[in-house]
Amino acid sequence: MTTINNEMSSVFKRLLTYLIPMKGMFLLAVAGLLTYGLVDAAFIAFIKPFIDEGFGQAPAVVGGVEVDVPTHGGFNANKDIMLMAPLVVIGMFTLRGIANFVSTYCVSYMSAKLIMDMRQQVFEHYLRLPVSYIDRENSGNLISRVTFDTEQIARASGSALISIVRDSITVIAMLAIMFFYSWKLSLCILVIGPLMGVVISVVSKRFRKVSKQIQSAMGGVTATTEQMIKGHKNVLAFGGQKTEVDRFFKVNDSNRHQNMKLAVAQAISQPVIMVIGSFALAFVLYAATFPALKDDITAGTFAAILGAMMAMLQPIKNLTRVNAEFQRGIAACTTVFELLDTAPESDTGEFETKRVKGNLKFNNVTFSYPDTEKPALTNIDFEVKQGKTIALVGRSGSGKSTIASLMTRFYTGVSEGDITLDDVSIYDYKLTSLRNQVALVSQQVTLFNDTIANNIAYAYPGEVTREQIVKAAELAYAMEFIETLPEGLDTEVGENGVLLSGGQRQRIAIARAMLRDAPVLILDEATSALDTESEKAIQHGLDNLRHNRTSIVIAHRLSTIESADEILVIDQGSVVERGTHTDLVAKEGIYANLYQMQFGN
Ligand code: ATP
Ligand code: MG
Repeated sequence: MTTINNEMSSVFKRLLTYLIPMKGMFLLAVAGLLTYGLVDAAFIAFIKPFIDEGFGQAPAVVGGVEVDVPTHGGFNANKDIMLMAPLVVIGMFTLRGIANFVSTYCVSYMSAKLIMDMRQQVFEHYLRLPVSYIDRENSGNLISRVTFDTEQIARASGSALISIVRDSITVIAMLAIMFFYSWKLSLCILVIGPLMGVVISVVSKRFRKVSKQIQSAMGGVTATTEQMIKGHKNVLAFGGQKTEVDRFFKVNDSNRHQNMKLAVAQAISQPVIMVIGSFALAFVLYAATFPALKDDITAGTFAAILGAMMAMLQPIKNLTRVNAEFQRGIAACTTVFELLDTAPESDTGEFETKRVKGNLKFNNVTFSYPDTEKPALTNIDFEVKQGKTIALVGRSGSGKSTIASLMTRFYTGVSEGDITLDDVSIYDYKLTSLRNQVALVSQQVTLFNDTIANNIAYAYPGEVTREQIVKAAELAYAMEFIETLPEGLDTEVGENGVLLSGGQRQRIAIARAMLRDAPVLILDEATSALDTESEKAIQHGLDNLRHNRTSIVIAHRLSTIESADEILVIDQGSVVERGTHTDLVAKEGIYANLYQMQFGN
């Protein structure tokens, strides 16, 4: 119980830090809510003087002087009070309305801003997280952190907060009125109060637990939908509709189930609280018949207390209702904060440089992916001097792309050995400085939902001219097809470039790398989707590009790497053969064998 409270209070404290910059707004909102609650309380508080002095026998006191009141049909009506009442009613409702507007506006503003800030933070945090984290997490969950979870916080901090502040104030004010008019009659609350507290805290715990389950169920719904849409073509081609429908039904049903659990807890808690409350009401009605109390209590007092209790019912009902929403918000806050607390990519290196020469060395590198036992690379040792090209060949899964990933520090630390660039360990570089030295064409081409020109100039540091883009596109042999498109470089490529062919996508990725003009170039199967003719044409551009640049070229098609200064044959994470093309062919080993298979004898 205490740990839960600690957790809640730390979540709260952290939430408040988001509100600090909106202090003025916050105070205004609280003032509005306070006024609203107090106006309601004042209505009830006026019941007693209205009944006792307006209609009752007690002489009215006006300006400190007792006045005689003329009687009308048995009542002693006080004209002043009776006349003032309508004006007071209108005035109070107007005040209440203004307070309502001010508080609703302020709270909505704060919650909208809070949610925007939080979404932005989560989004930006994803960009700082290590590749291994994103590899491991379910993308649906990651997306629903931004869309669904933050929405829950918005609801809790919006409508729920309004109700919690306003209704709590009303309840407290009503209690004050009750105790003020007759503490004896009001004592019953002391027994009922804690009982309600227990129910509320038990239910709240349940709400939070179920809310967490709803969040992960929502993650499942998002993930399954995303996967189906991404793989739509394959689903249709393989007739996987039923598999997808079943998969979705499962997560969809589980989501419904969790929501029902929440609804049931909510539906039970509300009447239970009401029944407990009715005991208090019943007690007051009963106690009023006690002779000892009867003498103390005027009709007005009794009516005021009864009125206060009745007036408390609705706020209490509201509170139990929004409690579910509120707990959902707390649960969502917990997950969002947990995410924000995950460690970003380690970036402790301080070495910065504008442009390295490009002497790259792998010193006996052994590396295992997180949570795997078998190393993906063992004792990889090679050196590429400035401006030279090293080629990596080998079977699928042998570890070629892994070598490229290590170069850009996508995975933390190697377990043995070191990688140096210009004789400085790459782990001593500042991350941005290191990545600025590398232009990467990865095996899976990623294009952004934007124009071809913007994809080529993607994240280009500084201004880029149209001529530079055209030049890069020409070198990548992409201008040839871009020119045939109706809008040329300004053609939208669709999500991940779906509107282009595989080879066209690759050429845009190559153009992007060409434009980047970095001292180290990594081409991972960069031309695998091209026909021989286009490949030949690109090769020419690449040769130009490789000139003066340190390059790592990974290829299955050996024709692309014949001219490399050194070729490494990788098998199961180790270098099994090395040398120039001529050396290796003469050696008549694995490479020579591969070469013969590709080109015939
Ligand atoms: P291909 O020619 O098919 O692209 P490759 O030589 O590039 O293959 P890698 O992608 O480097 O192969 O993979 C080497 C090994 O590491 C494989 O056995 C693979 O299962 C494993 N591996 C790759 N990526 C990860 C990852 N993110 N987490 C865990 N293991 C991985
Ligand atoms: Mg690969």
